[in-house]
Amino acid sequence: MAGTDPGAPGAIARLEIDLDALASNHALLTARHGAPTAAVVKADGYGLGARQVAARLARAGCRHFFVASAAEAERVLTVAPEAMVAPLNGLAGDAAEDVAALGATPVLNSLSDIAAWAALARRTERKLPALLHVDTGMHRLGLPARELAALAEDPARLDGIDLRFVMTHLAAAEDPADPSVAEQLTRFAQARARLPPAPASIANSAGIFLPEAVSDLARPGAALYGLNPTPDRPNPMQPVLRLMARVLQVREIGPGARVGYNGTWTAARGSRIATIGVGYADGIPRALSNRATAFFDGAPIPLVGRVSMDLMTFDATDHPSLGPGSWLELIGPHVPADAVAAAAGTIGYEILTALGARYSRVYLEQDCPTRDRPGA
Ligand SMILES: *Cc1c(COP(=O)(O)O)cnc(C)c1O
Repeated sequence: MAGTDPGAPGAIARLEIDLDALASNHALLTARHGAPTAAVVKADGYGLGARQVAARLARAGCRHFFVASAAEAERVLTVAPEAMVAPLNGLAGDAAEDVAALGATPVLNSLSDIAAWAALARRTERKLPALLHVDTGMHRLGLPARELAALAEDPARLDGIDLRFVMTHLAAAEDPADPSVAEQLTRFAQARARLPPAPASIANSAGIFLPEAVSDLARPGAALYGLNPTPDRPNPMQPVLRLMARVLQVREIGPGARVGYNGTWTAARGSRIATIGVGYADGIPRALSNRATAFFDGAPIPLVGRVSMDLMTFDATDHPSLGPGSWLELIGPHVPADAVAAAAGTIGYEILTALGARYSRVYLEQDCPTRDRPGA
């Protein structure tokens, strides 16, 4: 509760991660998709902790996880050893043997990825599982049209590969008015017709809310963590994280006094300024200077002055009960990460993945909080 001590001893900021809300979000997305739904846990589970996130979702029955790299796959496989854990970035360099040794299922993004994986299958005389990523217009990763044509002409290139899914990625699924979605889906259908039969994987979080992007495996990330997959409509997801910061000091200043670096905020009246020990080194964008709002005891509290490296200042003049030791909600049910992002001119994804390592992280699960060191 805002205003009460959330209990982390000595902590000046506390990041609560509600693993049950996360599991509810996964269930909601699965129901909405009407077909199996993976969890994208790259970038340390969008900043919330890939190990804890994957363990909770595996317990809830999630059997497919996507990460960026082999190193990330290794961490997830320690808590979900039975799951398909797929590095999206493919077989960068000569990673085939490492990826196979881990038991990960790579996303093959090119003919050279395919060749490396097939060669390893030949050498080890076993079938190796993989996903095949087709580029349908994002022009980032995946087989470009020319490589797809070469593969269609010579499907033996896939010998030894157990093709689990053929996938593509939509560039603008959150914008149903964008014609690229229909174009990509058409190109994907054409691509699949030229490839050996395999289940399809299309939708990211926003794609789950497009009936035409339903496939055999959805790949949501953002919505699991409570970001809004339907930006033009109310957020159907539950909030998963709450970032609370303790007030270090409160001071009275007179009219005309200026606050913070370069004095970018000037008190128009006698004011009470509350300082917390969180700043841009903790992932709060400096662009939020004079633009953010925290929450205390049911009320919004404006951030005043510059965001410093380790400190931020708030105008508590209208809230006499706010004092040293009070806790402010910086992100959470009252201050959605999407709103924080909008104020900073960015997206919620960037706010989450920047969440700092100095926070005391607390994982809430069925009324039993477990504390975890950052990065543990
Ligand atoms: C990151 C990513 C996702 C998840 O996207 P969200 O918008 O977070 O749901 C899915 N697929 C691919 C290929 C990705 O890179």
